[in-house]
Amino acid sequence: KPVIIIVVGMAGSGKTTFLHRLLCHTQASNIRGYVMNLDPAVMTLPFGANIDIRDTVKYKEVMKQFNLGPNGGIMTSLNLFTTRFDEVISTIERRADQLDYVLVDTPGQIEIFTWSASGAIITEAFASTFPTVIAYVVDTPRASSPVTFMSNMLYACSILYKTRLPLVLAFNKTDVAQHQFALEWMEDFEAFQAAASSDQSYTSNLTLSLSLVLDEFYKNLRTVGVSAVSGAGMESFFRAIQASAEEYMETYKAELDKRR
Ligand code: GDP
Ligand code: MG
Repeated sequence: KPVIIIVVGMAGSGKTTFLHRLLCHTQASNIRGYVMNLDPAVMTLPFGANIDIRDTVKYKEVMKQFNLGPNGGIMTSLNLFTTRFDEVISTIERRADQLDYVLVDTPGQIEIFTWSASGAIITEAFASTFPTVIAYVVDTPRASSPVTFMSNMLYACSILYKTRLPLVLAFNKTDVAQHQFALEWMEDFEAFQAAASSDQSYTSNLTLSLSLVLDEFYKNLRTVGVSAVSGAGMESFFRAIQASAEEYMETYKAELDKRR
C-alpha cells in the first residue's frame, strides 16, 4: 500500500515547491509517486497532478454562483470535492500495487484545510485506508524569530492532536537559512528562552511558559531540514516518512482495528 503524505504549512512556506521537489526525487530514485492537488485556487502548478481538484471544481465559478469571497470560494470548492472523495480513495486503491507514495498538496492558507470539516473528512478518509503521514512545512528563515517559531510549533502541535497522525516537521528553505537554531531550541528550552527573552513583550512571557509545554510535543516528532529549491534533505525526509509510516501501523492502525 502507498504511504499518503499530506503536505501542510503556512501560506508561502513552500508546500507546492517542496512537493514538486519530492516528485523530482521520486522520479530520479525509481520511487513510484502519485500527486494530488487540493488547492482549487492555484493558478499554475510546477508539476502535472494525477488528481487535481481543479478538474472537478471551478473555483471562480463557485465564487460567482454562491456569491463568495476568495476564502469562501476555496472552502466551498473543497467541500464540493469532498462529497466525492470516496471516488478518489477507490482510484488510489485500484493503483495501490503500483504506488509507493501519494503526495497531497493543500490550499495555500493553512486553516482552510486544517480547520475545516472537509479537511478533517479527507484526512480521515486517507488515514482509515492507507498509512498516512502529515508533513508540516516550516519557512525556516521566518521561523528564526522566536515568536514566529513558537506560533508555528503551536500550529503543528494542534494538528498533531487533531489528527493523531505521525507528523514530520520539514524545515524548508535551508538554502537561505540553516535550521540548526531550531534543533537547538527544540532540544534545550533554555536556549530558546534566552533567544525569546531579548523581547520583553507580553507575548514573549507567554512564549516562555509555552516552551516548557512544547518540550513534550517535540519528543513526538521527526525533524528534517530541507530545501525545495536546492533539493537538500530529500533522503532524510523520506527516511522520516518511512519511520512515520511504521509508527502509523503501530499506533493509529492498531487503534483503528480495535474500534472496528
Ligand atoms: P505554498 O503557498 O506553501 O505552496 O508556497 P510556494 O511553494 O508557492 O512557495 C512560496 C515561495 O517560496 C515561492 O516564491 C517559492 O519560490 C519560495 N520557496 C519555496 N521553497 C523554497 C526553498 O526551499 N528555498 C527558497 N529560497 N525559496 C523557496
Ligand atoms: Mg501552494
